[in-house]
Amino acid sequence: MPGVGDKIDVLDHGFVRLDAAEATDLSVVNGARVSFLQIKDEMDDRDEKLIRFLMREKHASPFEHNLFRFHVKCPIAVAREWMRHRWSSFNEHSLRYSEAIESFYVPAAEQVRTQTGKPGRYTFVPMEEETAEKVRAMMEAQYRQAWDTYQSMLDIGVARELARLVLPVGLYTEFYWTVNARALMNFVALRNAEAAMWEIRQYGEAVEEFFAAQMPSTHKAFVEFGRVAP
Ligand SMILES: Cc1cc2nc3c(=O)[nH]c(=O)nc-3n(C[C@H](O)[C@H](O)[C@H](O)COP(=O)(O)OP(=O)(O)OC[C@H]3O[C@@H](n4cnc5c(N)ncnc54)[C@H](O)[C@@H]3O)c2cc1C
Repeated sequence: MPGVGDKIDVLDHGFVRLDAAEATDLSVVNGARVSFLQIKDEMDDRDEKLIRFLMREKHASPFEHNLFRFHVKCPIAVAREWMRHRWSSFNEHSLRYSEAIESFYVPAAEQVRTQTGKPGRYTFVPMEEETAEKVRAMMEAQYRQAWDTYQSMLDIGVARELARLVLPVGLYTEFYWTVNARALMNFVALRNAEAAMWEIRQYGEAVEEFFAAQMPSTHKAFVEFGRVAP
């Protein structure tokens, strides 16, 4: 079971690391039981049932009295999707204040895919291995060119904030993400789901693993009631 300080590797150079957590099933129970001026120190069967009840009836606010702080490394394209989740806090590596790190996402051959169908209902199909390898080589060449241009611009004195504009969204970025269990469940419901881009889904899976380890009863109820955030 991954816990605080642990890191789950994702994609070719990325990771999700749980930097800190103040997140237990009891935080949900006590958030609800304060209505009756009760506080519990240990979970029992009644508390498990209470969590199921809160999840099923969408009594959502008791799921907010906790926090997970993650350190994430992912491609910028994934970070853009991630940062749409407004009910959470972000701080990201600045390419104004420091130089980029040469770290780019190249999908494994089996993840080089084509799409069929209509927007919102795409089916993704792996490409022939030979084509996939060509695509990987094309991506690497493009990244190399972008990186060389970036370095040349820095070498002649262009400001970092301007030079970064030539870098592609396959570049890895790093950020801190702090989120409570309610908003985390919304993230996992949307991003560890079939409709999500495969790459962010890998991150959604890692986040869900940490969540399940920290708050097993809450996670169980989340799954039981259809993986929908309360
Ligand atoms: C498969 C998929 C495809 C997507 N495609 C697109 C796309 O093509 N273009 C695009 O722009 N985005 C797209 N998104 C992003 C999506 O629209 C959401 O912005 C993102 O998933 C964050 O979800 P959220 O608003 O529920 O999360 P949060 O921002 O964390 O909000 C959590 C919850 O708080 C409430 N809330 C937050 N802000 C408001 C508000 N202003 N008013 C009322 N209630 C609020 C809502 O109940 C919301 O569910 C896509 C997402 C997915 C999963």
